[in-house]
Amino acid sequence: MAFTPDILPILESDDEIASILSHAGTELPPLLPALAYALGDLSLLDKDLWLNPTKSLEEQGGWTLEEQNRCRDIALRAIQRLRKGEARTSAPTPEELRSIMSWACGTKLDGSYLEMLREELAPENIDLRAPDWSKDTLDPDRDFTVAIIGAGMSGILAAYRLKQAGVQFVIFEKNDAIGGTWLDNTYPGCRVDVSNHVYCYSFMQKHDWPHFHSTQEVLLEYFNDCADMFDIRDHIRFTTEVSSSVWDEDTGTWNLNLVSDDREEAFSCHSIISAVGQLNRPSFPDIAGRDSFDGPSWHSARWNHEAELEGKHVAVIGTGCSAVQFIPRVAEIAASTTVFQRTPNWLMPRPQYQKELPESLLWCFNHLPYYNNWFRLHLFWRSHEGLLPRLEVDPLWGDHGDNSVSASNHELGLMLRLYLQSEFSERPDLLEKVTPNYTTGAKRFVIDDGLWATTLQRPDVTLCTDSIASITTEGLITEDGTFYDVDAIIYGTGFKASEFLTPMKIVGKGGVSLHEQWDGDAQAYLGIVSPNFPNLFFLYGPNTNIVINGSIIYFSECEVHYVTRYIRHLLENKITALDVKPDVHDQYNIKIDEGNEKMAWGISTVNSWYKNTNGRVSQNWPFSLLEYWNQTQELNPDDYIELQ
Ligand code: NAP
Repeated sequence: MAFTPDILPILESDDEIASILSHAGTELPPLLPALAYALGDLSLLDKDLWLNPTKSLEEQGGWTLEEQNRCRDIALRAIQRLRKGEARTSAPTPEELRSIMSWACGTKLDGSYLEMLREELAPENIDLRAPDWSKDTLDPDRDFTVAIIGAGMSGILAAYRLKQAGVQFVIFEKNDAIGGTWLDNTYPGCRVDVSNHVYCYSFMQKHDWPHFHSTQEVLLEYFNDCADMFDIRDHIRFTTEVSSSVWDEDTGTWNLNLVSDDREEAFSCHSIISAVGQLNRPSFPDIAGRDSFDGPSWHSARWNHEAELEGKHVAVIGTGCSAVQFIPRVAEIAASTTVFQRTPNWLMPRPQYQKELPESLLWCFNHLPYYNNWFRLHLFWRSHEGLLPRLEVDPLWGDHGDNSVSASNHELGLMLRLYLQSEFSERPDLLEKVTPNYTTGAKRFVIDDGLWATTLQRPDVTLCTDSIASITTEGLITEDGTFYDVDAIIYGTGFKASEFLTPMKIVGKGGVSLHEQWDGDAQAYLGIVSPNFPNLFFLYGPNTNIVINGSIIYFSECEVHYVTRYIRHLLENKITALDVKPDVHDQYNIKIDEGNEKMAWGISTVNSWYKNTNGRVSQNWPFSLLEYWNQTQELNPDDYIELQ
């Protein structure tokens, strides 16, 4: 199963192909691996072009112009062979695949790194993460039903994996459609800020995204198409909210209370997968008089499409990722837009952010077998090797006056400061306001292609950095007493990220309430399980958020893999339930905390949604992507107490 259409015949002349390869939009590093794979010819992998992981974030793998041309020459000759109809005659051996992948990643790949990247590459679009077991062969007669809560990206994924394993499941979705975050967030300008070729399931790769970073509508369509292709729609009960779940120790089942259309209903199952997301419960600021405003006001994730903004004076509170996406659209139509910024964000330049895929790249996708898979691997490798080390704290790095935490963090800060200076070169007043004074990477970067500076420099846009004292019937008053008379207020004020699984009531073993156990400080083993809550799994749970190095879909795939391993263990060993040992859970979380303390976002005192109200980083994963893969590959029975 794949979205990749058939490869088209190559009809272009040598000159036309050379011109495609010379186009700046053609990503060169994945070319030779794709061609070596297609032709079964490893001699295409020029040793002098071996990629350098330390240059992974640079354009074209950091190759010099001469090296780029060398790659183009080799590629042209290989494409001529494809044009003549040449193809590899037999499947690559594992050793050959390893050699091609090693070249593609500039690292002699081995062990789990190789295996994890092979799954991401998904050669020939093979679903390498599919469960390798089925309930029918393990325990066909056992009554075992899983309730999945939420039909967003991770709920759909969990459903598909259970379906592949032949495990019965039902999805409860509070909305009337699937899509989760991509259904909720319909604000103008909404798009994914991670490259789309990695923001898709490894086993449902798609190359013909219209943009490098697709818009909300396109993503919603992708997840709908996936749900249809997975044939799971009939398992979804829409407009059904799970209000509570109580573990019954005698029967080893979870008893759910379902609410739909004001009707309540009981439902019993053996396991629950919570796929409710992390960034979906709108957070409104605690500003005096907020409810007294007479005009329309709404949150970015609950966009008011009825409100007319033409000719209106609009206030926007917040300048995070969501606000920076919708403010330019609002400014285009409103008479005036006043942006209230509390903390400026570091902008991460990405010139192709809103660009369509160039024709030359599409040509490669359409004509070179599996180029899209190698393109994805290249992006994945870049994000794996990329920014994370620049956010790690070097204990020997002293005070350099910029809150940097290491030499490479300092360098990154310089680069991003230069970017701001060039973007706001004509407006020193704005430059001062938008330049952060905290550690680079302590809050989420805001991806930018220049639109933010263009928007803030519009004559009808005002950036206000005074704190808001109160909201009245007519507008907002800042601490210095200035009154802002506005017709509408839009809240781009983020989400209650650390309030995991609220407002659900979950009662586990011994009548323990999950939220009482957490007491505002959600923790879980692997981000997936908590002691006293047998067979209850969290997807995108505590400390599973990655902020700079990749796609959250990768994390969900690892989590769901672990969950299926767990269920397999139950079925294989005729165990009713497992409960994670408290010391395993606690030791794990000590390591997570130690890890986060060594990261820019952990050491900095700046406010961010990465932290909960206790100040603990309860959202972020501080280690590499590979580390999470390693930890979620197999279930260790010693981590659990068996419940019969
Ligand atoms: P956010 O990053 O939490 O931003 C909220 C904004 O509201 C911040 O600027 C915050 O200021 C401000 N704010 C909150 N309370 C305030 C108050 N009382 N007065 C003034 N300002 C206040 O939320 P978000 O922009 O919705 O983004 C959340 C996350 O969602 C992102 O980091 C990202 O992970 C994800 N996201 C992804 C995409 C995408 O991929 N397309 C798009 C949007 C969001 P402070 O900084 O001072 O707290």
